[in-house]
Amino acid sequence: MSNTERTFIAIKPDGVHRGLVGKIIARFEERGYKLVALKQMTASKAHLEVHYQDLKDKPFFPSLIEYMSSGPVVAMVWQGLDVVKQGRSMLGATNPLASAPGTIRGDFCIQTGRNICHGSDAVDSANREIAHWFKQEEINDYASPFINSWV
Ligand code: ADP
Ligand code: MG
Repeated sequence: MSNTERTFIAIKPDGVHRGLVGKIIARFEERGYKLVALKQMTASKAHLEVHYQDLKDKPFFPSLIEYMSSGPVVAMVWQGLDVVKQGRSMLGATNPLASAPGTIRGDFCIQTGRNICHGSDAVDSANREIAHWFKQEEINDYASPFINSWV
């Protein structure tokens, strides 16, 4: 059992603009995950082009970079059992139309191009994304009375 698995979750500019930061954070807290890094920043296009490097040949890539650099994002690292896969499940599908109600995208948005949050899709990409967005000293693990110590 690996309770030290980490994922990179970001609230995109539309999620911040719409005031959904608290609601999205609450879902991860209530699920039982631990927040180990958090910052708000307006990402540069160069930074986002590296983050989304696997999509550089897609027709929507330029508009994706415009969207993601249009305002601040809230970048986070969440930690806990199966958090990468569970985080994706909590987010819903890329297209909100395919996202079940009860997921973040399924409850809060309607458009693929404005889908309010990002989550890493695998442990390898999570590690790459965390290293891209955070310095080592910005990540702070800590003992929690509620996490990893259930009876
Ligand atoms: P996910 O964010 O679910 O991992 P992808 O990695 O495939 O999805 O795509 C990254 C982001 O690019 C999506 O979250 C979405 O904002 C945008 N995107 C993906 N596909 C499209 C599309 N067909 N049209 C417009 N934007 C898209
Ligand atoms: Mg992706």
